[in-house]
Order: sequence, then C-alpha cells, then structure tokens
Amino acid sequence: MNSQAHSHPARRTKIITTLGPATESDEVLKGLVEKIDIARLNFTHAQHGWASEAVKRIRHFAAAAGRPVAVMMDTQGPSIRTGSLEKPLELKPGGTLVFTVHGEKEQEFPSVDVNYDFVNDVRVGDTVLVDNGVIRMEVLEKHPRKIRCRVLTEGVLGSHRHINLPGVHVNLPSITSKDLEDIEWAIQNDLEWIALSFVREARDIAEVRKFLKEHGSDIRIIAKIEDQEAVANFDELMEAADALMIARGDLGIECHLEELPIIQRRIVKRCLYTGTTVIVATHILESMIEKPIPTRAEVTDAANAVYEQADAVMLSGETSIGKYPLQAVDVLDRIARRIERSGGANYAEKAAVANPREKLAHSAVIMANDLRARALIVFTRYGQMPKLVSWLRPRYSAIFAFCDNPKVVRQMQLLWGVHPFELQFQDDPEKTVAEAIKVLKKNAMIQKDEWVVSISHILSKGFPIDSVQMRVVE
Ligand code: PEP
Repeated sequence: MNSQAHSHPARRTKIITTLGPATESDEVLKGLVEKIDIARLNFTHAQHGWASEAVKRIRHFAAAAGRPVAVMMDTQGPSIRTGSLEKPLELKPGGTLVFTVHGEKEQEFPSVDVNYDFVNDVRVGDTVLVDNGVIRMEVLEKHPRKIRCRVLTEGVLGSHRHINLPGVHVNLPSITSKDLEDIEWAIQNDLEWIALSFVREARDIAEVRKFLKEHGSDIRIIAKIEDQEAVANFDELMEAADALMIARGDLGIECHLEELPIIQRRIVKRCLYTGTTVIVATHILESMIEKPIPTRAEVTDAANAVYEQADAVMLSGETSIGKYPLQAVDVLDRIARRIERSGGANYAEKAAVANPREKLAHSAVIMANDLRARALIVFTRYGQMPKLVSWLRPRYSAIFAFCDNPKVVRQMQLLWGVHPFELQFQDDPEKTVAEAIKVLKKNAMIQKDEWVVSISHILSKGFPIDSVQMRVVE
C-alpha cells in the first residue's frame, strides 16, 4: 500500500458519489476515485452494460491509486411513472388531469397513462405528486380505470415522470423483478453494497438477504428510508439492514417538508444509539449541478450532517450529471474536515452498549479518549469490531482496521472514521500487530512515541482471546 493510499486520514465522514454522464471521462473518474470512499450506481438510470464497464473502471483507478473504494448499487424499487406524451402538458392551478391505467382512453380532459393501477390504493382527497413533487394534485373522482385530479400547482408535465403518493400504502411489491435482476448483476460484479429503494418492512430486507444467500453472496444491504411507512418502521428496518440511508429526495416529497429535519435528526440519533451505520443523502450540494460554488444554506446543511456524525454523506446529481463533479467532492471534503475539527454532537455518548463485544469496543474507545491516543488499531475478519469502535465515535483517535479479506476492506469504507487496510494475518498475533504498526509508520499515519490502543486476538495458553492493549509506538 503506498503513501497515497490514505491521503486524507483526517476526514472521518465518508463521501459517496453517484456516477453518471458527468463522470464518464477518465480524468473525472480517476479524480473522484482518488478522493471518495464509495461510488454509487443508480439503477433507476443505469443499464447493465454501462454499469459493468463503470465497475471495471472504478476498480482500475482504485488499484492505481492504492485505495480501497467500494461500489454501491442502488435499486429502482417500485416506481410509479407516467407514460409517453406526444407533447408536454401545461398544467395550471384549478385545471384537470386524468390518470389512466391499462391503456384506458380519456376524451374530455388532458390525460396521461400510468404504469401501475393505483385506482384502488388512493382515496378521493388524497394528494398525487408528479415530477419530484413539483406538480401537486388532489384526487377528485375515481373510476374503474382512471382517476380525475384537480391541479393545485402549476407545472409542465413531460413523459415518464415519477409519481409520489404521500401516506398511501401502495400495493406494489417492495422488491420488483427488475430489482432482483439488478441484484443478480451486482452479485456477478462482486459489489460491496446494495441500497434498496422504497423498502417498507424488515421482511423486504429478509427477502433480499435470502436471495443473496442462495447466490452465495456477501453483499451488504442498505435500507433507504424514503417514505412514511419506512419512517414508521425504521426500528425494524434498522435491525434488519446493515446500514440505513436517509433518502431525502423522496422522503421530502412523501413527508411534509418541515418534518424532514426532524426525521433526519431522529434517525441519526437513533442509529448512533443502536450502532447502525447511517448515510445522509440527496440535495447536499444541489446547486453545484450548475454552479462551481454551493449556496451558504447547502454548506450549513452538509456541516449539520457532519456535526451530527452521520457515517457518510452522499452526492447524487452533483456528480452524476453536474458540471462540477470534482469541485463538489472537494467542497464536501473541506466542509467535513473543518466541521470535524470543531467537534460533533456526540450522540454516541448515550450508545446502548450491551453485549461483551460491544463492551470491549467501549472500553477501548474510553481508553483511547483518555490517552488521547493517536490511533485505535483493530484486527478483523468480517468488519464487526471496527463497526463497533466506529459507532462509539472516538474523539481524537483515527481507527485503522486491518483485515485479510479485500472485499470486507472495501465494505468498511462506509464506516465513520475507519481507514481500512488489507493485511494477511500471521499465526502469531503479536507479529500481525507488529506488521500493522510497520504499515502505519511507513504511511506516516503514526509516529514513534505516540500512544495507540489495539484490539486484537492474543494467544493465551495457546487459545486466542480478545484483548485491548495500550502501546507506545517504538
Ligand atoms: C433519494 O430519494 O433521496 C434517493 C437517494 O433516491 P433516488 O436518488 O434513487 O431517488
């Protein structure tokens, strides 16, 4: 591993960026991979051929930079969309629009076909939102194959627009057949993470876990919280998934806008109480799609996510279709580093530490905080102990996680403050620790005479036992 490998040991909040047309050139993709922790492929838009090529290119640039970069696939989920229109419809408040299903025809009013029969899901008086919530309508009348709505806000309706039905239980399966095909693609391409859109209950996650297991896959699952049902069920989703994403794009449409900050804070707090990895996503630096600098409000929003100590922040359009993808990552990196220096909300102080392994991690973090240790060094096979140490958000110490499985190394990139390294373990645990310290010294991540706290197995009478040790670097 070369010294470039961890050129930003100071940033603890992880950065996820979405790939797309704006990241097609080698120059941009290489530049991103040198900075980011996770690359996201959004399967609402991505095709398998393009995505396979993108994975190869990410792996290539990551290997060249000597950086473990994870790849995340984001499913489309159950999406309700309008069909094709010959020309866009100009909608005005007070006007009428009819949604038709099963190819029904409408003679009297402007109409558009919809890919899913939602007639029985909605009630008269419900709200229908189209095109990211821009066009708002109210259901006036239901017929067997059509729904007549009153337009409440002005807008131009184009083809294939996304429909949101806030507070409505939609009878679509959470995991669609397209999602399963895409998950199979993710398995074949050996991805680290999949993010599931519009999951509603723990059994949605269980279904995907079963599918992964049947295919012999160790991909980890992120539950995207993006509607009212997921918010209501977020405790069970948190338990079932490996991580949560606060998907503010859809969540801000599905819930009242003013609820969004409250929901975000509640979820982040709860995740830091229970030790669940949490991502804050969408509109972080939205204006940078068009402009080289963000708005002041965006800076403050990004700073808030960092201050609350979410594991990761995610860029979508800023990097996938924006004019300034590299600048957006730079801005986020600068905000994260600066805010981390100024302190954090420390919600993890109230962490519900329960079992012996959690208590071991807790003791190590308390020791590291007391010593103001330069580093916590953790040895792991599946990434569980680094996840626990990261959860407790050590105040001063970097977390260096050594693992013999390269995929787990990449998966750990999502964990707050964790700098993962690949290292083959030796029979004598003491030799493994010595090797890890050598790697860190070579990379100038620790220096002679600094305190470190290590969590590892040691041999006692020939048996391995968990141990926390404090050491001074020689
Ligand atoms: C979101 O809605 O915030 C989100 C991350 O999902 P998508 O980008 O797939 O709409």
